[in-house]
Amino acid sequence: MKHQSAVIIGGGVGGLFTGAFLAKNGLTVTVLEKNPLYGGGLQCFSRKGKLFETGMHIMGGFEEHGILTKICSYLNILDDLKIRHVPSSCMDEIIFNSNGDTYRIASGRDKFIESISSYFPEERVGIERYVNSMFKLTEELPLFYLQENTGTISEHTEMFTWSADTFIAHFVADERLREVLAYLNPLYAGVKGHTPAYIHALINVLFINGASRFEGGSQQLADALVKVIKQNGGQVLCNKEVSELGVADKLISCVKTADGECIVGDWYISSVHPAILSRLIQPGVFRRGFIKRLNEIPNSYSAFSLYIDLKPGVFPYIDHTCYFIEDYGMMWNQDRVNANGSQKAFMFMTPPEIDQGKYASRLLVHSVMNFDEVRQWSDTCVGKRGKDYQEWKRSIADCIITQLESVYPELRNMINEIHTSSPLTIRDFFNTKEGAMFGYSKDCENMILSHFPIYTKAKNLLLTGQNVNLHGICGVPLTAIHTAEAILGNNQLVKAINNAYETE
Ligand SMILES: Cc1cc2nc3c(=O)[nH]c(=O)nc-3n(C[C@H](O)[C@H](O)[C@H](O)COP(=O)(O)OP(=O)(O)OC[C@H]3O[C@@H](n4cnc5c(N)ncnc54)[C@H](O)[C@@H]3O)c2cc1C
Repeated sequence: MKHQSAVIIGGGVGGLFTGAFLAKNGLTVTVLEKNPLYGGGLQCFSRKGKLFETGMHIMGGFEEHGILTKICSYLNILDDLKIRHVPSSCMDEIIFNSNGDTYRIASGRDKFIESISSYFPEERVGIERYVNSMFKLTEELPLFYLQENTGTISEHTEMFTWSADTFIAHFVADERLREVLAYLNPLYAGVKGHTPAYIHALINVLFINGASRFEGGSQQLADALVKVIKQNGGQVLCNKEVSELGVADKLISCVKTADGECIVGDWYISSVHPAILSRLIQPGVFRRGFIKRLNEIPNSYSAFSLYIDLKPGVFPYIDHTCYFIEDYGMMWNQDRVNANGSQKAFMFMTPPEIDQGKYASRLLVHSVMNFDEVRQWSDTCVGKRGKDYQEWKRSIADCIITQLESVYPELRNMINEIHTSSPLTIRDFFNTKEGAMFGYSKDCENMILSHFPIYTKAKNLLLTGQNVNLHGICGVPLTAIHTAEAILGNNQLVKAINNAYETE
């Protein structure tokens, strides 16, 4: 691999992990990122000296023997990361606002079962079977356990392709419990009757095994990955928006950037949304039918976020994530704003600082949101969306704060400043279709539709990132392994990652 080179489009989680794997294995890597700073979902932005994370707030996979622990120790960057593990006694708190029901959820397989059963003792057996079945479903995906690919086509159980809500309902009867068991919905933007059970299982198992956060912001992981790329002779170029992929003899011949550069490599890897990629690529590689499909696959929901700068010493630091839901029955339709402008549900958290003390400096709120809520402003760009849009954002933020006041009555007086982002912000910042938080949505009614390989018709163009396979801090690096192994050889990375961890 020493004399081969790879040009990677997009310096987010997928692009940087793929770049780090390839650079460590001898390729000369160039990552092209359109934004002034690399990181994508790992990027932090600063307002008056306070750092806010854009797209990475809670993580699974960083516990002992966790997937990311293994991957990062292979890349030799574990010591660069300041990871804070969420206490296992309460990793998440779910608050139903209508009647104040509050559930504190523990991590660890047994403690998780125990914590939920304590609220629903009569359903204990069903809860145990539910959790055991989720773990079984994840075993159907060998890469989730960093196991080698045997080359055989894996047959999935029927349950694997059930919808997540059907899966839950199969084990427990209590309607309230069914809602509680679906509380991680905002982490995969679940759709009733459509989101496959295996997606629900993967996310749940990931967090049951242990939740973590970055102390001092997620940018540190992007910095560490860039360090690996640079130490191995590669480069990460920012403000380099790829505007076109040249094609010759059904192969990619170069990528052209908006500032007129032409960059050539042996391999080209795209981590941008495939529908966006299809607009950049010259005709002749993707067939019309394939482009149509890329544009028609439904995308996951987007989000409205509130970044609250708190006054010092007033708001307690909360060492877990909180899920606020207006009422039972709203778990599966949180994407639509209520008629009065309030949200059906949102998650909130206080991200930890380095040397975090008793009080929080920031409060983050994320609410799943359908792109239709902002469609009327979809032709606008950052800073030029108009007064009505600004007013709409203000009113959504105000409603969320009013809802939060039922938990923290003095909240309004504790706020220094508020910043907001909408599905349009996510669309334009990440360059993702309809501001999709997690890329293409998966549909158990049509499993094939959103599943496509990392390979493309152009033999030297590969795909990576959340739209291929899985999203999030754990899913995207797993796809990056797949993509890198397409060049390095089947199982080469998985073997190296496991060997490196075992010999530590
Ligand atoms: C609000 C929000 C909260 C989230 N919270 C969490 C969380 O707590 N935990 C979790 O695990 N996941 C979370 N996610 C999901 C996670 O951020 C994504 O799954 C992950 O970042 C996807 O990685 P990616 O590389 O596919 O895309 P990205 O990280 O978006 O990277 C794509 C990169 O490509 C760049 N790009 C796009 N077009 C071009 C072009 N033409 N030329 C050059 N560069 C280009 C973009 O600027 C971007 O940097 C969240 C997402 C959002 C939106």
